[in-house]
Amino acid sequence: MPSAAPLQLISEPLLQEKQITLYLKREDLLHPHISGNKWRKLKYNLIEAKNHQKDTLLTFGGAYSNHIVAVAAAGQEYNFKTIGFIRGEAHEPLNSTLQFAQNCGMQLHYIDRTTYRQKQDPAFQGNLKKQYPNAYILPEGGTNLLAVKGCTEIVTDINIPFDYICCAAGTGGTLSGIIAGLNGYAQVIGIPALKGGEFLKTDVTALVKEYSGQEYQNWQLQTDYHFGGYAKVKPELITFIQVFKENHHVQLEPVYTGKMLYGIYDLIRQDYFKAGCTITAIHTGGLQGLAGFAERLGIVL
Ligand SMILES: *Cc1c(COP(=O)(O)O)cnc(C)c1O
Repeated sequence: MPSAAPLQLISEPLLQEKQITLYLKREDLLHPHISGNKWRKLKYNLIEAKNHQKDTLLTFGGAYSNHIVAVAAAGQEYNFKTIGFIRGEAHEPLNSTLQFAQNCGMQLHYIDRTTYRQKQDPAFQGNLKKQYPNAYILPEGGTNLLAVKGCTEIVTDINIPFDYICCAAGTGGTLSGIIAGLNGYAQVIGIPALKGGEFLKTDVTALVKEYSGQEYQNWQLQTDYHFGGYAKVKPELITFIQVFKENHHVQLEPVYTGKMLYGIYDLIRQDYFKAGCTITAIHTGGLQGLAGFAERLGIVL
C-alpha cells in the first residue's frame, strides 16, 4: 500500500503579507496512476471486493475520467478484471485516458447519454448484476460509504495543527471523508468544480451522516470558483496554474485542483482568513488527462 502523502509548505509574498501559512498535501504523489483521492476512495472498496470473492471491478465514467483510470490501474495492480461503461460514443483513436484504461486491460463499453443517466436505477443495476455476477460495482466517481472511509485517512495522515482544510469537490465523497475524519476539528472548505454546486450541501450532509451518524457544522462550500462549469476554464485560471507551477514546481490541473487553489488565493486576497492561521489544501491529483486537456485547448500547462 502506498505511503503517506507529504505536506509541502508554500511560500510567497501574498501569504507573507497576509500572514497565512499554507500547506499543500500532496495526495497526487500517492501512486503514479491511481491518483490522489481516487486511490483513497478505492482502498476499502478493493478490500471489500476481495472479501466477496469478486474477480471484476465494474464502473462508469466520462471519456476523460480520473476514476476510470484509477479503477483500470487498480484492477491491473490488484488482479481484478475491469469493465468501464463510458458515457457517449466511441471515438477512434481512443483518447489518452481511455487508451491507458484499455492498456490496463479494461473492457470498454459505450452507453448513450440517456441510458447513462439511468445507471443508478434499480432496474439497470439489477440487470448489470445478473449479467456480471462476479463484478463489484462502483458508482461513477467512486463515491460510496467505503470511499468516505478511505478519505477519512487523508486527514488522519496530517501531523500538524491547522485552522482550515480545503479540497475540491465533484461528487463530494472526498469532502465527506475529510469532514468525518476531522470529527469537528478545524474548518473545512469545499470548492465545487461544477456549476450549481449547492446540491453538494445536501449530498455531503447525507453522506457524512450515513457514515458517521453525525451532523457537523464546521464546513461550508465556496461555490464561486467553477469558472463556468465542470471542465470549463478561463484565461485567468490557466495563467494561475502556469504561474503556480513556475513558482512552486507543482503541477495543478484545471478541472479540480487549479480551481480550488485559485479560490483559496482569492479568499486570502479578500481577507477571508484571519492573519496567523494555517490552511491545508489537498492536492487531490487528477493529472492523468492533463496533456490531452491542454492539447484540446491549444495551451501549455
Ligand atoms: C475526482 C476528483 C475530485 C473530486 O472528488 P469527489 O470525491 O468526487 O468530490 C477532486 N480532485 C480530483 C483531482 C479528482 O480527480
